[in-house]
Amino acid sequence: MTEALLDRTESFAATRTYQVRTYGCQMNVHDSERIAGLLEEAGYTKAAEGARPDLTVFNTCAVRENADNRLYGNLSQLKPIKEEHGMQIAVGGCLAQKDQDAVLKRAPFVDVVFGTHNIGSLPTLLERSRHNKEASIEILEALETFPSTLPTKRESVHSGWVSISVGCNNTCTFCIVPSLRGKERDRRPGDVLAEVQALVDDGAVEVTLLGQNVNTYGVEFGDRQAFAKLLRACGEIRGLERVRFTSPHPASFTDDVIDAMAETPNVMPQLHMPLQSGSDRILKAMRRSYRGKKFLGILDKVRERMPEAAVTTDIIVGFPGETEEDFEDTMRVVEASRFASAYTFQYSPRPGTPAADMEDQIPKEIVQKRFVRLLELQDRITAEENATLEGTTQELLVTADTGSKGHETGRLSGRAPDNRLVHFSVPEGAPTPRPGDFVTVPITHAASFHLLSDPAQSDFRIRRSPAGDAWDRWQADSCGVGTTKIDSDKPGSVSLGMPVLRAAP
Ligand code: SF4
Repeated sequence: MTEALLDRTESFAATRTYQVRTYGCQMNVHDSERIAGLLEEAGYTKAAEGARPDLTVFNTCAVRENADNRLYGNLSQLKPIKEEHGMQIAVGGCLAQKDQDAVLKRAPFVDVVFGTHNIGSLPTLLERSRHNKEASIEILEALETFPSTLPTKRESVHSGWVSISVGCNNTCTFCIVPSLRGKERDRRPGDVLAEVQALVDDGAVEVTLLGQNVNTYGVEFGDRQAFAKLLRACGEIRGLERVRFTSPHPASFTDDVIDAMAETPNVMPQLHMPLQSGSDRILKAMRRSYRGKKFLGILDKVRERMPEAAVTTDIIVGFPGETEEDFEDTMRVVEASRFASAYTFQYSPRPGTPAADMEDQIPKEIVQKRFVRLLELQDRITAEENATLEGTTQELLVTADTGSKGHETGRLSGRAPDNRLVHFSVPEGAPTPRPGDFVTVPITHAASFHLLSDPAQSDFRIRRSPAGDAWDRWQADSCGVGTTKIDSDKPGSVSLGMPVLRAAP
């Protein structure tokens, strides 16, 4: 941005408020933190809950079915508000990268369209649009600035994401990511570690390393073992208590990463590894170069080194050509894998992907039936796996989000080392932990999708952490009160897996 433009941006933005609406995967959630950081650096402030913002930014996703209908539906709802109050509207993310100027054809009242490669241009584009009184569109085909060098407004005080790479060199036939995010670009380990250190200095105790395929990290600078080394280097950072990563790819998952996970105490016993299908024939059609046997072999090795590890996955049901036998193979691999949970999706063709043009698209009713069977199987396994934790003692990182029933039950929430969600009550007379603090509690009940702990006072231990202190400072800055709130709308937990939403049955 030029200096003159920056000045104008700041003066125009001085009193302007913004809202970012995010769809899709963890990459998008992280990009939205960058968008918020950029806007705040340009002088915008976050609109209060329920208030009408001066700027709405849609950070879109092209992966999910009906993503475009949903976006254009939401945009049309904002049109009368814009006409009456002069709100600016910007559309970015994968759908913008894909549709480009088609966004303006369908929603001509949009002010700015920007892509996945030039998030950093957003304040300039907003200013240009306001100044010229016309829509401003800029889509780049290659990455302009590595996103992690942009300012960030973190959604969580205790946890942060750090991009280690963007883009993907694979060509899975159902996936639009490579064409929208481009080839893999790796960040230098020194830059990654400096960002992790900066997060820790800022109070974070948990970091999630983020890439479309973290196992190929280093391919760009010629070090095949770079990811394992990065995990070990994270283990050296004082004050960093929990390291997670997403997503690995089974085809390039190597033993050095398993060793690094097992031998680095702050790398958590948790793995989110997309299976997608248990049928070797379908994996081939998906152009995913591992097979069911290799996938299960990785799980065996992980569990041998980390028996307490929780494994989660993504599965697509009804890929073109999937027969009943193929689906049975998926059911068999799921049964054998004992996933703690799974993000399950019904296949739907994504225009622009090879699979969309494949013959043998599976009728919706068949996909639906298989999907329900898979859900039933996985729900049973999830409940069984949760039940094995009853009676164990877990150290939880307390989150700000207390879940939908927090108001009713008075329980707080936290994440176990394996990332399972635990709702816990604070015994009478015990101090209340802040988000970011740690509590050690017994698991007193395993529900189907979460764990519960109602400990006696003698079984409840609290460990204050710098993240809890940071939470107090954050609260003091925002409202002058440093205490735990039960607020289900507050972001806080790191949820792994891509995309975030589970497809409706
Ligand atoms: S599914 Fe993952 S590994 Fe495959 S092309 Fe998409 S981003 Fe890359």
